[in-house]
Amino acid sequence: MNILVINCGSSSVKFQIIRTDLELIEKNEDRRLASGYLERIGSQSLITLQVEGQPKIKQAVPIRDHRAALDYILRWIVSPETKINGISSLADIHAVGHRVVHGAEKFTMSTLINDEVIEGIEDCIDLAPLHNPANLKGILAARELLGPGVPQVAVFDTAFHSTMPETSYLYAIPYQLYRRHKIRRYGFHGTSHRYIAYRYRQLNGIEREQVNIISLHLGNGCSACAIQNGESIDTSMGLTPLEGLVMGTRGGDMDPSIIEFLHHKEGMTLNEIDAMLNKQSGLLGLSGLTNDMRDLVAEETEHNDRRARLAIDIFCRRVKKYIGAYIAIMAGTDAIAFAGGIGENSAEIRKRICVGLETLGIILDEKLNSTTVGGKEGLISKPESKIKVFVIPTNEELLIARDTVRCVKNVPRRW
Ligand code: ADP
Repeated sequence: MNILVINCGSSSVKFQIIRTDLELIEKNEDRRLASGYLERIGSQSLITLQVEGQPKIKQAVPIRDHRAALDYILRWIVSPETKINGISSLADIHAVGHRVVHGAEKFTMSTLINDEVIEGIEDCIDLAPLHNPANLKGILAARELLGPGVPQVAVFDTAFHSTMPETSYLYAIPYQLYRRHKIRRYGFHGTSHRYIAYRYRQLNGIEREQVNIISLHLGNGCSACAIQNGESIDTSMGLTPLEGLVMGTRGGDMDPSIIEFLHHKEGMTLNEIDAMLNKQSGLLGLSGLTNDMRDLVAEETEHNDRRARLAIDIFCRRVKKYIGAYIAIMAGTDAIAFAGGIGENSAEIRKRICVGLETLGIILDEKLNSTTVGGKEGLISKPESKIKVFVIPTNEELLIARDTVRCVKNVPRRW
């Protein structure tokens, strides 16, 4: 089957076309045929398109909204000049898989989309006002442009974490607030943590139930996940993606009193504080320079910038704290896996996170660490390291495509 995987953000659409099927999944022979990214939707949009094995095409085109973005993508896919292997008309797209950020307690697995599921995703908007509306726009546009005959599947960022016990997901606030409003930790990046667990299992030739690892997704958004017996038992993001690790523009854990304090001292409204916590904090807020880890590392090494160093040090210390915390609640772990733009590419940050953890049995191999970058996968710890350390480049799109096939064929499974 040719699966169109769609990931709609508030002003962007990412897509991939992946050829997969139950047999191809089994043999790990599914393959990406094309991909693309449309950003700045709503104005002059920047578009990057690529047929696998061919050079990238970059364009700037005005794109009004998500529907127009999808229309543009579909026209490109079937255009005679594009020539994607085995695809000449829309009939060659057999199903669509959507990333949906919040599934709350309603959706604990990927699911075939019907009217009831759309209503369910709408019901979760309160919990993810920035993300779910964009995801819904993608679903409705795909249904309109491809017709109701093409099955669509929703794959939720929260689903993998639905196995967390109450002791992990409840906040210590009055219990009625959980009952009344479902205020609890949901966690995000679930598809990424699930992929990391899946690849770890493959790399080590073990069963799902034998996966005991701490997975670290460090990108623009960052989260840690404690995976025990193959299930997420705790994760650092919470009701929203604001909690936990230091991220590009989000600060992660902090004292909630800061909100009231700021309101009084700076006269900021709740909306302004929310925007500050989501968009002006984290690495950007600390450094005053950038949310981009690559640039921060360059500022530190080339200009000895104090605030860049501080931002990086606080980022690494927070990850370290979560590693320690998760080792404690899991009563030990077999491995730590790094993923995401930072986790996959920055040997320097991985080193700074792991240094000092030797007493816990974590010993990096400097050479392996420095050469496992740019999309490479593998072990980066020394043989004597009690806890192994891996780099596992994540691939959420692949899991979305596979889940889509499984839901369409009515053989859904957790991972
Ligand atoms: P998103 O969460 O938006 O998918 P990515 O996973 O692509 O983001 O991660 C983006 C982050 O990865 C940015 O902070 C970027 O600077 C960082 N990054 C990418 N390459 C490197 C590198 N070589 N060194 C340090 N940081 C890097």
